[in-house]
Amino acid sequence: SYRCCSFCWVPQSVMYLWYASVHCQGSLTELADRLTNRGGPALVWAAVSVANPAVYAAILAFCAFQVLLMLLVPGHVPEYKDNGFACYLITMATFLAGTVYLKQRGLTPTRQLPVRLLLGHRALPRICGIDIKVFTNCRFGLTVWALAVAVFALKSYELHGRVVDGMAVTAALQLLYLTKFFWWEAGYYRTIDIITDRAGFYICWGCLCFVPSFYTLVSLFMVRQPEPVGPAWTAALLGFGLASLAVNYWSDWQKQAARAADGQLNIWGRPARVIRAKYSLENGQERQSVLLASGFWAVSRHFHYIPELSLTLCWSAVCGTGCHIIPYMYFAFLSVLLFHRSFRDDKKCRDKYGKYWSEYCKLVPYKIVPFLF
Ligand code: NDP
Repeated sequence: SYRCCSFCWVPQSVMYLWYASVHCQGSLTELADRLTNRGGPALVWAAVSVANPAVYAAILAFCAFQVLLMLLVPGHVPEYKDNGFACYLITMATFLAGTVYLKQRGLTPTRQLPVRLLLGHRALPRICGIDIKVFTNCRFGLTVWALAVAVFALKSYELHGRVVDGMAVTAALQLLYLTKFFWWEAGYYRTIDIITDRAGFYICWGCLCFVPSFYTLVSLFMVRQPEPVGPAWTAALLGFGLASLAVNYWSDWQKQAARAADGQLNIWGRPARVIRAKYSLENGQERQSVLLASGFWAVSRHFHYIPELSLTLCWSAVCGTGCHIIPYMYFAFLSVLLFHRSFRDDKKCRDKYGKYWSEYCKLVPYKIVPFLF
């Protein structure tokens, strides 16, 4: 019943949040009032042009473009083509060029583009050499997230004649975060999303629809509520956000560098402490990996989730501390997701490394927050 509930309820709730952001000034109270007294769920679906062929054409064209980039842009990782950063840059540059082109002809790009943003068993399925999860998670989900942030900033500019400081900060932090993701994308291929999770509803629908619509709520909210935050808050949120992004990347980098150097490196000025953990493949072959117990990986086992969350808080807090909930929903969702993920990843590592993982847990006893959790 839990699965059935999420299957039916989550897509509907995303539509409600979109409707509240666009038609109810971001107010959930107004949404509840409209749903109760003015037509129910039909009201929300009536506001979406589901029969518009341009919507489907835009989605199919975008998918075809991303598949072409996956195939044609060179990459050097044998199992997964490490071309995410180049595909991401080409997509954003194409968006920029398309916007300039349409603008020069007096057309309004945001009238043609955002509507696509509304629609939306195996661990490593491939079709014609195309890895389905790399496509859904990275080339579609996260790339559309970046495009949506850019489209919403552009829409704000078209509506109000300027991009307010808060919109600029949230757009800059989200785009830098996504640029960092694609720069580091090869590291993502080793995470539970790719290694463990199967290509079912959670991953595919989540990345195709939930990420583009839910993760972008802050920017969507700000299109209609462009309240300035002032220079002091702008500087503070941007500064703290950039510092969080740097620490998050640094932490991911330490792990990758330790693996690349087979543990023979200095971290924070000292020789890295590592555990040489043996594990068995499905065919019984034995392999060895490096578990880093220095730097951020000695503070807690998932310390990098803290800067991930503080960065998210910075790009959400541009919406102020009024009584609106919508801009903080992604932060709340991510907090639960990362808390839950720390258990899932621990289980995956315990199953894989057994006593070596227990040894690491003895050295680094806390999952995320030192002395607390
Ligand atoms: P992690 O970076 O936590 O990596 C987990 C994997 O790294 C483990 O499964 C294990 O894989 C290996 N590992 C674990 N501990 C060590 C260690 N001490 N030394 C070396 N290797 C270790 O994966 P996540 O996917 O959780 O996070 C990756 C990034 O994505 C982070 O920056 C995170 O903040 C971000 N993120 C963002 C989300 C979002 O929705 N915005 C959601 C989730 C993550 P192996 O089998 O290779 O040993």
